[in-house]
Amino acid sequence: MEIIRSVQSLRKKTKLLIKQHKQIGFVPTMGFLHEGHLSLMKEARKANDILIVSIFVNPLQFGENEDFEQYPRDEEQDEKLAKEIGADILFIPAVKEMYPKKMQISMHVTDRTEMLCGRSRPGHFDGVITVLTKLFNMINPDRVYFGMKDAQQVAVVDLLIQNLNFPVQLVGLPTVREENGLAKSSRNVNLSRDEKEEAIWIYKALKKGQQFVIDGEKNPAMIKKEVMDTIKHNTSGEIDYVELLSYPGLKPVMEVKGQVILAAAVHFEKARLIDNLLFDESGRTIHVFKSEE
Ligand code: AMP
Repeated sequence: MEIIRSVQSLRKKTKLLIKQHKQIGFVPTMGFLHEGHLSLMKEARKANDILIVSIFVNPLQFGENEDFEQYPRDEEQDEKLAKEIGADILFIPAVKEMYPKKMQISMHVTDRTEMLCGRSRPGHFDGVITVLTKLFNMINPDRVYFGMKDAQQVAVVDLLIQNLNFPVQLVGLPTVREENGLAKSSRNVNLSRDEKEEAIWIYKALKKGQQFVIDGEKNPAMIKKEVMDTIKHNTSGEIDYVELLSYPGLKPVMEVKGQVILAAAVHFEKARLIDNLLFDESGRTIHVFKSEE
């Protein structure tokens, strides 16, 4: 595995790979790798000749009062894990390398962002699409892999790829969970022991909501209420949102119909956790999202 830190070296390398007609799979991450990240890498490893992983905590996607400084980092461990999975290139640029000076161009998403995390984190997805545009241009991947844990991110990247005609296939893969159901997240290390126990209830609550749908409930308000009450009664966290929306369009629905997302975000003392379930009108789970090849 080659570790690359400069944009110039990365460009040189990827140009060569493209000349050799290698299929490139790309997994962008912010590091502090866990099994969620590793599942994306494994899938990308299988489906492509070359696996490129990036680790970059992108300041542009953090708000002023968010956890950019406290975001967990462990480069040594990340290198070890990426190597074990069989990554060919690990790209770890410094902030100055990605943004030598303040951006003189700004990108703004105008759809799929006025709800869920987009509403609580203004500018977040603008930062995400900016860094991804840069990374796509540096790497020219054939396929890019994301986790459905960040389902809104997948929906926004879908727009980015469609709107700007990036020749890349988007693959959204299932959320990897602890045995007790808690979605794996780099931010889980910032939970206290008690909070970690309580946080399991986010998933349990979403599952209850899904069970309502399986049992025939179609009214989003009833489903959301059940999820909210369950989280409120079982955690000390403060609910940021519980929403049921169409997916990937993320529009409010009058009744559960077609493909929908049931999503929640909860603030704990030092971490804000998100989770979601994707299912159809009969409550059948949808695990994967893929754009056209
Ligand atoms: P992050 O490092 O948090 O930016 O995440 C990098 C990628 O890993 C994103 O596409 C996330 O959606 C994905 N990811 C994070 N947690 C999980 C998880 N528990 N299961 C699957 N994918 C995940």
